[in-house]
Amino acid sequence: MSTLYDLDRPGLAGLLADQVGDLPPYREAQVWDGLYRQARLPAEMTDLPRELRQRLTEVAPPALSLVSEAVADGGLTVKSLWAGAGDARVESVLMHYPQRSTVCVSSQAGCAMGCGFCATGQAGFQRHLSAGEIVEQVMAAVRRARPRRVGNVVLMGMGEPLANYDEVWRALRRLHTDVGLSARHLTISTVGLVHGIRRMAAEPEPVNLAVSLHAARDELRDQLVPINRRHPLEELLAACTDYRRAKGRRLSFEWALIDGVNDTGRDATELAAVARPLGAHVNLIPLNPTPGWPTRGTAAPRVAAFAHDLQRLGVNATVRRNRGTDIAAACGQLAAQRPVALELRPRRTGGRPGDPAVAHPAGIAGPVEPVRFGPEVLPH
Ligand code: SAH
Ligand code: SF4
Repeated sequence: MSTLYDLDRPGLAGLLADQVGDLPPYREAQVWDGLYRQARLPAEMTDLPRELRQRLTEVAPPALSLVSEAVADGGLTVKSLWAGAGDARVESVLMHYPQRSTVCVSSQAGCAMGCGFCATGQAGFQRHLSAGEIVEQVMAAVRRARPRRVGNVVLMGMGEPLANYDEVWRALRRLHTDVGLSARHLTISTVGLVHGIRRMAAEPEPVNLAVSLHAARDELRDQLVPINRRHPLEELLAACTDYRRAKGRRLSFEWALIDGVNDTGRDATELAAVARPLGAHVNLIPLNPTPGWPTRGTAAPRVAAFAHDLQRLGVNATVRRNRGTDIAAACGQLAAQRPVALELRPRRTGGRPGDPAVAHPAGIAGPVEPVRFGPEVLPH
């Protein structure tokens, strides 16, 4: 059975013809408009005959059902937990700002990239989301936000969007073309899958690219972000340079500030050396706590000093306001309330105290590293 937002326009036409029978041609346009421009569920499309609404609800149900919702920041942050086929659990976070609302959506249930400081990475990979499931999170947020307007969509929830490229891109196209969101208001955040960045550069839509850098030297980035061992900084930065050239869009780097790990003067200097030539904007996020990571986020005075260092070195940097930490809705905390289920193996080399790969909640002594990514989940 097709789910509501997985149908493309010919798919909807076919479904109506097969399941409903002869309809005047304008009905198809009405349903499509109702779904995308008006963000209504079939049951709410009161301009349609009641029978058609009921039939649509039966033959094209939503893919996700709401399991729970948590509200924080005086109503300004809403985290929704969704259940999808195969017992997939994903989360989306709606954030209201004075001028606009932003929704942060998931692209996969879980993630295979194994960044130890991230709750999603700690829980491992479950499955890719379909384009319809990604779009549905956005449409649900549009309904939930009313009367506010959702102006920005960021793929910064659970999962690595560029590891699920085709479905993510199909979803972005739908948001762009059918919902009418400008590509400038769509952002993909990636841990640095170089092939995906290169594919993005060849697409017509100039969406924003955010790269989760966290370290600007390979030795440290290899530890924090295991995919760096496959795509080291030089390769990643070359792809970023080409993306910027191809699209003319400002690039941003995400940097989760981890106490004593990547928040020193040396780190600021190294970051500035890569960000400045690219004209990249740096978003600093003090590391949010997650169950499986012992190291703390950098304290406020050091965060300010790091931001100041960057500005002094000619780099635009902002400290991202933390939203929803008390409901585990902040960056890197999305784990869909699953128990941490890490597969761990001992590391061959020794670790230093504070080395991100050293301590783990699973009670395993000594250096460990997550074993997660395999050919089935990494694009080539
Ligand atoms: N997989 C993509 C998008 C999802 S993660 C990526 O890695 O970019 C969204 C952002 O949250 C990334 O910048 C990620 O590095 C950051 N993040 C992960 N865990 C975090 C934590 N514990 N504290 C702060 N930011 C975190
Ligand atoms: Fe995956 Fe991004 Fe989390 Fe890394 S930070 S494990 S890439 S979701």
